[in-house]
Amino acid sequence: VRPELDALPLDQVRQVGDLRRRVRDWKRQGQRVGLVPTMGALHEGHLSLIRFAADEADRVVASIFVNPTQFGPDEDFRRYPRRPRKDAALLAANGCDLLFLPDVETVYPPGHITFVDLDESLDSPSRGLESEFRPGHFRGVVTVVAQLFNLVEPDLAVFGEKDAQQLTTVRCMVRDLHFDVEILAHPTVRDADGLAMSSRNAFLTPPQRAAAPLLYRTLRRAKRMVEAGERDAAVVRQAMQEALAAEPLFETNYADVVEADNFQRVDRIGSDIILPAAVDVGGTRLLDNVRIAIT
Ligand code: AMP
Repeated sequence: VRPELDALPLDQVRQVGDLRRRVRDWKRQGQRVGLVPTMGALHEGHLSLIRFAADEADRVVASIFVNPTQFGPDEDFRRYPRRPRKDAALLAANGCDLLFLPDVETVYPPGHITFVDLDESLDSPSRGLESEFRPGHFRGVVTVVAQLFNLVEPDLAVFGEKDAQQLTTVRCMVRDLHFDVEILAHPTVRDADGLAMSSRNAFLTPPQRAAAPLLYRTLRRAKRMVEAGERDAAVVRQAMQEALAAEPLFETNYADVVEADNFQRVDRIGSDIILPAAVDVGGTRLLDNVRIAIT
């Protein structure tokens, strides 16, 4: 019991039954329900997704759930920032109607054994890149997203392009499991210096924060190379890797060139690609990407 949360300005539910009652009431009235899944510690990126959902749907449900199954054993699950009181005020101010704030035991009751599996033998978008550095991460993501879809039963759900490989993998899951949920993508929201907003940015020390915009600068420079006519992915990859290696605070996880619709690595650059990159900055991972559509 967390009594301090009860005085919040936003309607919130922690139990499945309460959630279903609220959402089904709306649907009976013919209202379209949008879902924005988050892990909380909300920033302007999340809030843009909420406002976008409010434009597209009659009612907006936000979930805040730090999902243990998408964190590796050595990752930051325990220290991931949690501030539901502040989050609820921000959600209320940005057009959210209901906050779903389940406990771990609600999502994964004792005896929980069922997960959504991803076939990595095929050309799965979940293969490589994030999965190489976070094995099992997307299995946890698609499992919790499937659970949230079954719990909330939304008409649409909004995801950020910042997590582009996740977005592509979720789209596959929705197609493969026949979920009747429309997936909408929202562009990446950035600080003034270009750094993609992230709840994890709060972990950066001042020198790390000062170095961080190099990630997006590198992606932008690579995008300009492609726009100027470069079609050899190896050349673009190498340029990105060299630029990132020049920053001593960065340890590059990957900087790559993939097909936009399926996240497969490419050799020759085609008409619609994504440059995804991730770097480790003293234990904090920065993740970003740019998309290049050549018309
Ligand atoms: P998270 O709380 O990090 O799990 O993110 C929840 C949702 O917000 C995901 O769909 C993310 O892709 C999205 N998101 C996170 N940061 C940003 C950002 N800077 N711009 C746009 N969407 C974001």
